[in-house]
Amino acid sequence: MDMNFSPEDLAFREEVRGFLSQKLPDRLRDGARRTPGVFVEPDIGMEWHRILYEKGWVAPHWPKEDGGTGWTPTQKFIFEKECALAGAPAISILGLRLVGPVICEFGTPEQKARFLPRLLSGEDYWCQGYSEPGSGSDLASLKTAARLDGDEYVINGSKIWTTHAHHANWIFALVRTDTAVKKQAGITFLLIPMDQPGVEVTPIHSMSGDHEVNQVFFSDARTSIDNRIGEEGAGWAIAKFLLENERGGSCYAPRLLKSIDKLEELAETQPSGVNGAIAHDPRFRDKLARVRLDAEALEFTELRILAELAKGRRPGPQTSLVKLLGSNIGQEIDTLRLELLGPDALQLPLERPLYGNEAPEPVGSELAQTAMGRYLNNRAATIFGGSDEVQKNIIAKTVLGL
Ligand SMILES: Cc1cc2nc3c(=O)[nH]c(=O)nc-3n(C[C@H](O)[C@H](O)[C@H](O)COP(=O)(O)OP(=O)(O)OC[C@H]3O[C@@H](n4cnc5c(N)ncnc54)[C@H](O)[C@@H]3O)c2cc1C
Repeated sequence: MDMNFSPEDLAFREEVRGFLSQKLPDRLRDGARRTPGVFVEPDIGMEWHRILYEKGWVAPHWPKEDGGTGWTPTQKFIFEKECALAGAPAISILGLRLVGPVICEFGTPEQKARFLPRLLSGEDYWCQGYSEPGSGSDLASLKTAARLDGDEYVINGSKIWTTHAHHANWIFALVRTDTAVKKQAGITFLLIPMDQPGVEVTPIHSMSGDHEVNQVFFSDARTSIDNRIGEEGAGWAIAKFLLENERGGSCYAPRLLKSIDKLEELAETQPSGVNGAIAHDPRFRDKLARVRLDAEALEFTELRILAELAKGRRPGPQTSLVKLLGSNIGQEIDTLRLELLGPDALQLPLERPLYGNEAPEPVGSELAQTAMGRYLNNRAATIFGGSDEVQKNIIAKTVLGL
């Protein structure tokens, strides 16, 4: 595998760098840096979304004819990496990266015309209704029911851990339309408007006090039959297509490496209490070096996946490997950050947001203000999008043949 970028790719990288230096406002970098939640808030994310939309760069993962950029896999990687290095907010994956590609792949021409332009422009904000109380890893056991009444589905049941449901005006959901068949065969993929009396959203606060996830209740909620993606009972294949994008769509390593750079910089100034700065403590240096090596190895794995994609192959089970490693390395970084900051990290402000004019003054540094919240929120990274154990099962079965 040739690891060097071609002259065209290097020219593209310059173009991306130029765009970021001109169009990414400090206000958005600041908001992204000072958000302890897993997901960037819509005021930050949507502003960046609109800037990318105006440039025509908001949906690199869509087919060009549907509004994508037509970039090669390498160009997509370069774009993601440069955005990470520049500290750009990571915009919500729920619309553009999850339901968008589903509509591009399985939607009718009418559905594409109705939903895709509003996804691109950011007029619609989406959330994902897969998990239910009792159906997470074993998703096919889901019970939320939909029955056809004339030309509308009537939906009853509940979804849980629904990220940003309190901001969304649409939810894409897996629902059970048949209980008499094998459980996977009775699932249908529906798009449901949130703004109706039959949909209630109740907040779930995380350990850090952040409100990112919710429980959503459907009580005779309705959606038109025109909002069904694919045939009735075909939802499982669509769900799997989406999960592969969810697990494999990320480009973890550049953001992880940027966080490690920051830790190394900080270690030069934080006193160890024994031997000058922590950077001179061999035990801490060893930990930092290990996490850097892991993140660099992950970057090579991501580049290997890229090489597969460039040959037109699907990424397959390697996406599970990347999800498993990326989320675990992220948690190691969170732990090292706390260790490095020492007593300064023992603060958990509950005001939100921690950016902008109304933000509370940090005790110590800005980094210390968000470190504990970040650590607590990111415990979820090894659960959402498929838990560690589930990823290990996939790797054991499909890669190791166990
Ligand atoms: C912050 C956050 C945001 C989320 N956002 C969304 C969202 O927007 N939309 C959505 O639909 N869902 C969302 N989820 C839900 C997420 O996908 C589920 O939490 C996840 O799939 C795990 O399901 P569960 O919580 O029901 O745990 P369970 O499936 O009950 O698992 C409990 C434990 O058992 C282990 N386990 C389960 N099955 C096996 C097995 N076969 N072998 C070995 N171990 C096993 C798991 O690894 C875990 O440790 C979110 C979750 C979190 C934490």
